[in-house]
Amino acid sequence: MSYQYDLIAIGGGSGGVAATRRAAKHGAKCAVVEYDRFGGTCVNRGCVPKKVMWYGAHIADTIGNAAGYGFDVTQNSFDWQKLVTDRENYIRRLNGIYEKNLGKENVEMLVGHGSVVDAHTVQVGDKTYTTERILLAPGGKPTVPEIEGAELGITSDGFFELQQQPKKVAVVGAGYIAVELAGMLHSLGSDVSLVIRKENFLRGFDEILSETLAETMQNDGITLINNTGIDSLSGSAGNITIHAKNNVTSKEQNYGPFDSVIWAIGREPLSAPLNLHNAGVETDKRGYVPTDKWQATNVENIFAIGDVTGREQLTPVAIAAGRRLAERLFAGKSDLHLNYENIASVVFSHPPIGAVGLTERAAREQFGDSIKCYKASFTPMYHAFTTHPQKTAMKLVVQGDDEKVVGIHMIGDGVDEMLQGFAVALKMGATKKDFDDTVAIHPTSSEELVTLV
Ligand code: FAD
Ligand code: NDP
Repeated sequence: MSYQYDLIAIGGGSGGVAATRRAAKHGAKCAVVEYDRFGGTCVNRGCVPKKVMWYGAHIADTIGNAAGYGFDVTQNSFDWQKLVTDRENYIRRLNGIYEKNLGKENVEMLVGHGSVVDAHTVQVGDKTYTTERILLAPGGKPTVPEIEGAELGITSDGFFELQQQPKKVAVVGAGYIAVELAGMLHSLGSDVSLVIRKENFLRGFDEILSETLAETMQNDGITLINNTGIDSLSGSAGNITIHAKNNVTSKEQNYGPFDSVIWAIGREPLSAPLNLHNAGVETDKRGYVPTDKWQATNVENIFAIGDVTGREQLTPVAIAAGRRLAERLFAGKSDLHLNYENIASVVFSHPPIGAVGLTERAAREQFGDSIKCYKASFTPMYHAFTTHPQKTAMKLVVQGDDEKVVGIHMIGDGVDEMLQGFAVALKMGATKKDFDDTVAIHPTSSEELVTLV
């Protein structure tokens, strides 16, 4: 049986683009289906616009710290709209680069909503295309709670559409996006409340990180409203009241009014519109597409990568899984697959967080008493001269007699750039002695990680 294509990917984001480009490089005839701008969540509504805003916030912090270094600086104004316009122009350029790169590799771009007709046929608009293999890479969308007035709030997608800076804003949630948006908005001058339903945020991270960040945020002036469940929102756009209940005391309380309420309570997969049942592809009860280590679904010739699989929802993960899959299918690298263990990630909070490997709690659950931790908490030299000093904290989790490093957890200025190299060391099986044998770079914060006692 011959097909029009060797591989069609549904979704032109991080995973779909990486996989089809790599497959085409090895001679496969590929197409990628996308209804929006190429680049996906990361480029259009995620990592890229987020990092631009984070850089802006970082500059605001630096201006605020300048007086400590003897500069007589007055910040007269901040032009939100200019930053947003320039950011969107930058993204448009990236969209063009994505399309150019797909064209260079001869990957066909099929514009429209893609869905599955059967295991070898994809529909885009009113056209159908046959293919030997299908790659599912539709990503996800932000979750909005099913409560009264929820539509008065916006999500991270809406945040990136804001043409004016919200003066008073409530961010609801406890993950990456909640702490990143709260930190950025605060540094850029908004009055920020962060509403958390449990005791603290970032509960999947080591406690040294969530506790240090919570302390820093509060010292900086962000209002943390914890143990709070939201029952409803009322009011109108730009004038929103939160009706909530304390989950510990059951006391009901209203908060606001806020210009903006931002839902940052997680994301859900965009699998339903793909009509996967037509090919018998199974999804779990949340709509994620389970895959094995080869990224294969339960249907032999249909694969899935990226956020839709419900594994680590990070751009480099989608890209790495896609490229490995393409190499395996079209370049004869029959054993190549992504190892999902020890994937490093950074939360672009203020200050940033970097983590790789096991948290202390997870390590103790897995290895019991053979776990030992080395910690440091200090004020970095930069903040010896600032009026809002932010602490840096670090933890090495080591295991066994040879003290193999199984977790690295850091919060503080610069850890976002510091982590990648240390992640290589952990991945290679470095021990505490290897860290100790590495002569420090002075004066830096990173030297603390190789001088822990
Ligand atoms: P996506 O990049 O979401 O791409 C899926 C594409 O498929 C989309 O373009 C969509 O339009 C398209 N699509 C969906 N359904 C169809 C259909 N039926 N037909 C045609 N096209 C379809 N990750 C990091 O590593 N670092 C970060 O700093 C970071 N920051 C983030 C900040 C935010 C606010 C968000 C929301 C996410 C962030 N992420 C970050 C996560 C990262 O964006 C995702 O993990 C990554 O984009 C997943 O790639 P993907 O290919 O699975 O899906
Ligand atoms: P996350 O899954 O990281 O966090 C959402 C959290 O919100 C949950 O863990 C939960 O925490 C809380 N929550 C869930 N439901 C509710 C509710 N109804 N009311 C209040 N709180 C609720 O989701 P995000 O949306 O922050 O991000 C999605 C993913 O995108 C991330 O997991 C990450 O993989 C990726 N991302 C990566 C970034 C990076 O690399 N820097 C940046 C941004 C996103 P609890 O149970 O503690 O209440």
